[in-house]
Amino acid sequence: MRSVSIFGATGSIGQNTVDLIARDPGAYRVVALTGGANIAQLAEDAIRLKAEVAVTAHDDRLDDLRAALAGSGVEATAGQGALVEAADRPADWVMSAIVGAAGLAPGFRALRHGTTLALANKESLVTAGPLLLAEARAHGATILPVDSEHSAVFQALVGEEMEAVEKIIITASGGGLRDWPLEALPKATVADAGAHPNWAMGQRITIDSASMFNKGMELIETKEFFGVGPDRIEAVVHPQSIVHALVGFRDGALMAHLGAPDMRHAIGYALHWPDRRELPVARIDLAQIATLEFYAPDLVRYPALRIAREVMEAGGRSGAVFNAAKEIALDAFIAGRIGFMQMSEVVDRTLSAISPRLCLVSPMSGLEDVLHTDHMARNTAWSEIEKMERT
Ligand code: NDP
Repeated sequence: MRSVSIFGATGSIGQNTVDLIARDPGAYRVVALTGGANIAQLAEDAIRLKAEVAVTAHDDRLDDLRAALAGSGVEATAGQGALVEAADRPADWVMSAIVGAAGLAPGFRALRHGTTLALANKESLVTAGPLLLAEARAHGATILPVDSEHSAVFQALVGEEMEAVEKIIITASGGGLRDWPLEALPKATVADAGAHPNWAMGQRITIDSASMFNKGMELIETKEFFGVGPDRIEAVVHPQSIVHALVGFRDGALMAHLGAPDMRHAIGYALHWPDRRELPVARIDLAQIATLEFYAPDLVRYPALRIAREVMEAGGRSGAVFNAAKEIALDAFIAGRIGFMQMSEVVDRTLSAISPRLCLVSPMSGLEDVLHTDHMARNTAWSEIEKMERT
């Protein structure tokens, strides 16, 4: 029986993972499930899946979690330290689906046990890619991508040599504001940007899709995970979200991965890898879809792609600054303090403002360094927002 843990079990990726595990309860021993504020969901799933331990990230919710688990035999713990302790409980397969920088420490710790880490948490690769991959190598652990684009690339590369790869193309839906006139974008509201045409996701990642900061993160993830130079990585707008990624080979062949926009596909692939098992996802009917469109993204509409490319070129600490600044910019947009198009201005300004104090191109020395850079970038981003508000 395989042992599994799910970090971020109450979120969108986490719930899709719980769904797949719950369909075959006899096949898994669930070690840890973690969540944040959603205690009811965490407790319900922990009891249903007979988890050994349920962890809430919030210290002050321990009593609530204990009460919700009373009599079930599931242990309750709380706090960021408890998340790392949960990652110390060995499991064969660990889903890393906590959102944000909070997902880094448990993921790093799980790798120490030589686990197979299914990586949804984008921030891990964007902020600390080289460190994460080195940690996996040092402990004989395996990292499998869960982002649909990277899972698609990973699948297209099965049996191939990286030397034969000419380019990697990841697709982007273009987000909820794709067809808006350019001049209307500065007036886009949180509700406008938070509606995705194809994927059902949380509010933050949906807005990041509309701005393409999400795609920018994915470009950086591609560089880090597959070790391919920025000049060989492209993003292309594909409104139907059926083709998730393509790999171009030196003989001119282009291998595409097609699938319904359902995260259970990429999660299920990582869960059963290297096998393929039946998954409860919709099958594609190409005749019914009839048309698949592709076009180059407009960098005026999506400045996040231009910034991400600069970050890929720079490497070092710039990914951590990019991630932190775009999170703060998103907070400020959701709070109504800046407009939709000003999010990229915040990230640009943060990268410029921080570079005299922090050598952006120098490599990270460890997790502490990543968290320090993250903290510094967040403070810088807020002060840039305050300056923008004053002018
Ligand atoms: P959600 O916001 O839906 O879920 C996030 C999870 O993390 C929840 O379990 C939440 O708990 C928990 N959490 C929130 N804050 C903290 C914290 N400070 N410490 C510990 N746990 C915390 O996110 P998604 O599932 O959408 O995304 C998870 C990750 O996967 C992100 O990095 C995202 O970029 C990436 N991803 C998401 C995709 C998607 O389709 N949604 C696709 C590809 C990648 P609670 O809800 O209980 O507060």
